[in-house]
Amino acid sequence: MNDIASWHARAGALTIDGRAFIGGARTWSRTRQQFDNRSPIDGRELGPVARCGAEDVDAAVAIARAAFDDGRWAGMAPARRKRILVTFADLMVQYRDELALLETLDMGKPIKYSLAVDVAGAANCIRWYGEAIDKVYGEIAPTGSDSLALITREPVGVVAAIVPWNYPMLMASWKIAPALAAGNSVVLKPSEKSPLTALRLAELALEAGIPPGVFNVLPGFGNEAGSALALHMDVDCIGFTGSTRVGRQILQMAGQSNLKRAWTELGGKSANIVCADCPDLDAAVAASIGSIFFNQGESCNAPSRLFVEESVRERFIEKALALVPAFAPGDPLDPDTVMGAIVDDVQLATVMKYIGEGQAAGARLLAGGERVRLDTGGYYVAPTIFDNVDSSMSIAREEIFGPVLSVLSFTSLDEAVRQANATQYGLHAAVWTSDLSKAIRTSRALRAGTVHVNQYDNDDITVPFGGYKQSGNGRDKSLHAFDKYTELKTTWIQI
Ligand code: NAD
Repeated sequence: MNDIASWHARAGALTIDGRAFIGGARTWSRTRQQFDNRSPIDGRELGPVARCGAEDVDAAVAIARAAFDDGRWAGMAPARRKRILVTFADLMVQYRDELALLETLDMGKPIKYSLAVDVAGAANCIRWYGEAIDKVYGEIAPTGSDSLALITREPVGVVAAIVPWNYPMLMASWKIAPALAAGNSVVLKPSEKSPLTALRLAELALEAGIPPGVFNVLPGFGNEAGSALALHMDVDCIGFTGSTRVGRQILQMAGQSNLKRAWTELGGKSANIVCADCPDLDAAVAASIGSIFFNQGESCNAPSRLFVEESVRERFIEKALALVPAFAPGDPLDPDTVMGAIVDDVQLATVMKYIGEGQAAGARLLAGGERVRLDTGGYYVAPTIFDNVDSSMSIAREEIFGPVLSVLSFTSLDEAVRQANATQYGLHAAVWTSDLSKAIRTSRALRAGTVHVNQYDNDDITVPFGGYKQSGNGRDKSLHAFDKYTELKTTWIQI
């Protein structure tokens, strides 16, 4: 049975282990420090978590380095690494209910999406990179008849992965899957707000056959474990996903230490442009509303700025408001819930601050705007829509990371594109139109790593994901992610 009662029963019976995972074993921090981990669903304490710091980072990096240097993983034939990674993915599927439950308890997303999006997506990612790695060939450069130059890819070495709390398992998998497949050793630091699934993944990886020391997980705070990793002289590469503010610090720390390769996937304020000649207004409304409220709006690529052509604005808004009640927040352990809890009280306060600023600046509140109090306790916000938003308002400029949509209207597409680009971010964007030339011209003009045409929610592991401008400098997913976790080596051979 997978009804609400059975999920609650299973949640109550779950054994939660907050210890770090270093060298193939669970361990508390060397300093014995711990931190509390509360569920945003109801404020319940989920159990202590190891508060790792610089000493633990030193130990984990040394173990990861030794595991890399002795070739126990990097030296394994890619076909064998593939089999182990595919087994790892199989185990994730086998333990899908437990992983989904941990994810939902830890960060508040609906159980139905933890299962269908987070566990399924993360397992698929591990499997995909596992299956890809024995199909990556080297090259021979055309250097002439008296020499041979081989161009091969080698693992970078020790990779530190630092990830956020909004898709804890998925973001971890986007880093660890290509990094491990390529033969690196990894030290992963999950967010202090959602450390549990990463720790469980490390156990499953060991069970699948990834040798001890190759994949280590250190829970802890950003300015402790995180900065110790970013500054570490023996970390060769850092894969970071998080805010633009911290991404800037990561690049600085990489620069002031050993010039480790530093890849950043950062924030967004994505523009979604709906033209009057959009082929299907109902589809545009459903995708726009579904995507901004998905994951409680806590998505880097959420289409938080809606530019709608003035002549269809009223119709669009009427249809959008009709959909809003379906997104009323509910108990995340109810399989029917589509909007869960905001990750913690700090994020709740941030979202409410922006809602207050929107109202104070004169935007018209069409829906939501308030905290929702459920019987369970916890942190919930009503799906919120503001109309009459001006590009100068903070709700149109800054990443809110909550269920808040800002509607701006336009009469000139050029002007809409100009405003869409007038942001520090450049992660995703969309345009809805039946005119193919207009779609392509607009897509070319939008400064974003991904542009959607007549849809918003398509996603696939085969396509790169990343941003222009201050949305980051790397690309997760697809074969391009191997570029981040491999070095190109040229070997000249005289004939
Ligand atoms: P955050 O930047 O606060 O934290 C991200 C991670 O960095 C956490 O593990 C945190 O502990 C760590 N960290 C914090 N300070 C650090 C420091 N000084 N040194 C090293 N590590 C440090 O971000 P968040 O609040 O966890 O996540 C939300 C942000 O992530 C949003 O801006 C969102 O857009 C972004 N995000 C981007 C993508 C993408 O692919 N572009 C995907 C998901 C989330």
